[in-house]
Amino acid sequence: MAMDGDTRPNDLSAFWMPFTSNRQFKKQPRMFVSADRMHYTTSDGRQVLDGTAGLWCCNAGHNRPKIVEAIQKQAAELDYAPAFQMGHPKAFELATKLVDMAPAPFEHAFFTNSGSESVETALKMALAYHRARGDSARTRLIGRERGYHGVNFGGISVGGIVNNRRMFGTLLTGVDHLPHTHLPEKNSFVKGQPEHGGYLADDLERIVTLHGAETIAAVIVEPMAGSTGVLLPPKGYLERLREICTKHGILLIFDEVITGFGRLGSSFAAEYYGVMPDLITCAKGLTNGVIPMGAVLATKQIHDAFMQGPEEAIELFHGYTYSGNPMAAAAGLATLDTYAEEGLFERAAGLAQYWEDALHSLKGLPHVIDIRGMGLIGAVELQSIPGAPTKRAFDAFLKCYEKGVLIRTTGDIIAMSPPLIIEKEHIDTLIGTLADVLKTLE
Ligand code: PMP
Repeated sequence: MAMDGDTRPNDLSAFWMPFTSNRQFKKQPRMFVSADRMHYTTSDGRQVLDGTAGLWCCNAGHNRPKIVEAIQKQAAELDYAPAFQMGHPKAFELATKLVDMAPAPFEHAFFTNSGSESVETALKMALAYHRARGDSARTRLIGRERGYHGVNFGGISVGGIVNNRRMFGTLLTGVDHLPHTHLPEKNSFVKGQPEHGGYLADDLERIVTLHGAETIAAVIVEPMAGSTGVLLPPKGYLERLREICTKHGILLIFDEVITGFGRLGSSFAAEYYGVMPDLITCAKGLTNGVIPMGAVLATKQIHDAFMQGPEEAIELFHGYTYSGNPMAAAAGLATLDTYAEEGLFERAAGLAQYWEDALHSLKGLPHVIDIRGMGLIGAVELQSIPGAPTKRAFDAFLKCYEKGVLIRTTGDIIAMSPPLIIEKEHIDTLIGTLADVLKTLE
């Protein structure tokens, strides 16, 4: 609260909100005060259907008793344990459960506190892996246009979103970008994986020719790019990337911060697409978004390259005060149990067709120029108003919110990624409300 004599306009001013138009928000605040399963409750007492699983993270829906109880119990039992040179059982249990859930090659998990930290960790692991093997010239990192890998320096350097880069001057050097795979003129309104664009992976060969394979440490991509508008991998693309990386000794990192934990109907996109990277980053759904936590999954080959030298030596000079934090580990265990007990990944797979049909029912509505989706994720791209490249979708977001539905926007793309507990009636409400709103847009 503002104190007496304080001239601040209101008590919303102190909180500098992330990735938010602060001035707009503070004139027209939107607040959630509670949540249950598929719905949020707003500060003015309205129910809002969660069409985005929070920020792509509450895959089991909200306020799940098992997760709540696990956190409460953990807080009373062991609040914190030092993350370095000490352990506590739940971090080990969670790592085991996580690698058991992940595709077979992934045998080790390193804990972080967010997707951004998972990305930094994976990039550093890739660099250190090559050094550990005496291949220290491999320092170059390859990202992709329209890639989103969080907001830390490594992540924005390999990322390909101009707004996330242009404010911050020189980023990491020695970074190249593959072209993005979004080919609207060829793939608009396609269902499933696009036919066209697999060849774009061959650009990696161009970069190899330019710099020499012996200088390249790793390629990082989202198997399906979420934050830049749900860009699906064209058929053959991921396979080709894998092939080229293997041929040249380059590590492949999948950033699965969004695609992990059932979003596509399987544990990870690596499994869904049947293409195995060397490292997987994850976060969000690991704890159902309830307590911040991320992880990097590594193959035995990567992990074992570090397990050399004197036994008492620290193998990787990297880690966070909260790596494997007891509260987060407890939340993670309860979350993964919930996914398994309720068969939520299979549930997502089972709903995918209904979801796709519902999404594509929006074709033909005003301003809709593309629809993309897979699993329980979808995007509706709108024609922009000239000179106002985000306005139309943001208006849709505001109107949907007024009508009791939460969607997300990036540019003029509307993205949706509901909790995996969603029912068909919720899908009808979500898509029906969006359809009504689209008809009213300027
Ligand atoms: N990578 C990807 C693919 C993401 O989608 C995100 C977040 N949307 C991040 C990294 C960053 O995660 P966080 O916001 O938890 O740092």
